[in-house]
Amino acid sequence: MFKALEVKTMNPCCLSDSQLSTLKREVQFLEEQLQADLKNEKCDKTAELSLVASSEVLDRAEAVNVMAGQQTVSSHIKQLEEEILECKSALHRIEDGRYGGCENCGEEIELNRLMANPVAVLCVGCQSRYELYRAGGKAASF
Ligand SMILES: [Zn+2]
Repeated sequence: MFKALEVKTMNPCCLSDSQLSTLKREVQFLEEQLQADLKNEKCDKTAELSLVASSEVLDRAEAVNVMAGQQTVSSHIKQLEEEILECKSALHRIEDGRYGGCENCGEEIELNRLMANPVAVLCVGCQSRYELYRAGGKAASF
């Protein structure tokens, strides 16, 4: 308790060294999992593609299914790659001592939020405004 307060007065970031190293391990662990997932997805995709290439006669409905499946896999791969980038950027911020601050307003990101999502770059307030903005944008485009 007392230690956390002491850190807070000398650092704009409220995280103590031990909290920071816990979060760093979380991010590293997350990145490893994502890398493993990405590898699996890529293997699946390759297997699927060679399966398509090897089947001479492909029923039209089946072809559509395979194509739809490939799109899902591709967007999943893209999502995984983006999440890996988020992990890398979080690790950079930890190294630079910028970790734990909101990228938008510069306020501290709540510890509970970082524990739940160690790669979070926005505080709760900015995140909810961003989501509203995104939801609004989507609604407007329809
Ligand atoms: Zn903010």
